[in-house]
Amino acid sequence: MDGGSATRRQAVDEAMRLDGNAAAGILSEVFVPDLTTARAACASCGAIREVGALFVYAHGMGTVLRCPSCGAAVLRVARTRTRLWFDATGARLLVMTAAE
Ligand SMILES: [Zn+2]
Repeated sequence: MDGGSATRRQAVDEAMRLDGNAAAGILSEVFVPDLTTARAACASCGAIREVGALFVYAHGMGTVLRCPSCGAAVLRVARTRTRLWFDATGARLLVMTAAE
């Protein structure tokens, strides 16, 4: 790629870039539905199953959903008085049915 096309590409990227607020609509579709019917791919072993089929360990620090195949933590959720903490680093992918 020559310098001219790199500059044009950068200009196109900048023209298309919006701030994170522009994703509010699609993010609300992702996080509102019942997530237990979503399919999660375990980042550790690659097993794919519904979130509702993961093993749940709930305790005072929060809830950990573990992969039945390898035991890795797929999702972690914790609640404090004012915040919800959602860690999905153990899920390679989450797939949910879109609202019609
Ligand atoms: Zn696994």
